[in-house]
Amino acid sequence: MIQVFIPLNALGFVYREMKRALADVEGMFDILDVTPAIQDSDHAEALPVGADGIRFDNVSFSYHPDRPILKNVSFTVPAGKKVAIVGPSGAGKSTIARLLFRFYEANEGDIYIGDHAVRDLTQDSLRAAIGVVPQDTVLFNDTLQENIRYGRPDASEQEILDASQHAMLSAFIEKLPKGYNTLVGERGLKVSGGEKQRIAIARTLLKRPRIFLFDESTSSLDSRTEQAINQSLQKIARDHTTLMIAHRLSTVVDCDEIIVLEEGEIVERGSHDDLLKQSGRYQDMWRVQMHSETE
Ligand code: ATP
Repeated sequence: MIQVFIPLNALGFVYREMKRALADVEGMFDILDVTPAIQDSDHAEALPVGADGIRFDNVSFSYHPDRPILKNVSFTVPAGKKVAIVGPSGAGKSTIARLLFRFYEANEGDIYIGDHAVRDLTQDSLRAAIGVVPQDTVLFNDTLQENIRYGRPDASEQEILDASQHAMLSAFIEKLPKGYNTLVGERGLKVSGGEKQRIAIARTLLKRPRIFLFDESTSSLDSRTEQAINQSLQKIARDHTTLMIAHRLSTVVDCDEIIVLEEGEIVERGSHDDLLKQSGRYQDMWRVQMHSETE
């Protein structure tokens, strides 16, 4: 009996690990049809504990040589601070997230975490340090509890309950007749975009990463859901280095710095209040969004 049980159990572990890895990278490749093959360098080192700030130093990047996407992008997310990247569709916002995660290598310039160039780090240590809340989360055909547990397979039930509460998910789950044992996915309960995103937040909270990378969904959420997600994000981001790729400006108001990206270049930067005082791109974007929300 034990002989059968152990290999199956081990297989289960491998399966869960695979799903966790998938949950980490999901969404980052949503519009890609190729899997880039970045290898660890021969002298790659693991990211040491305590190096948490992010720095982009004159980064330029193109997917194809004839079409530059990012042009001399420099910015810093000091350890424990929250920085947002905003800008029109196609400006290169998600590309910044992909370079930080080292799905691609910068053509020029360097990206650092603390004093460590991302290109000299092992990919495992880099990806373990960053928790991604992707645009669209993959749910597995399993219970809500197990779907949340993918953030950290050895999490206890209490930790899952705590993460769900911080992600503003518990009220929704507790109203379901089977609660955390409700099946989701193709054969189970259909969940809304906002609920999915909060499951992704709960997973990321369980993972306890040092850096958060939030790739905001482009899908429109009703204002109550948006408010719930904002509140859970604020809890997440407290004291953690956070980079937000944002579409709705209402989610970036409290950020320490907002970077406006246009055609791969930083055209404005500052706090929400600073940017509103400048009669520039951010002020225009803010007016347009406020106008469409009041219509
Ligand atoms: P959105 O707000 O619509 O999500 P974005 O600012 O995040 O847009 P990116 O996804 O970074 O924009 O894309 C920037 C540009 O790079 C776009 O013009 C896009 O078509 C192009 N692009 C993205 N991925 C690839 C790829 N794998 N190969 C070639 N071009 C790509």
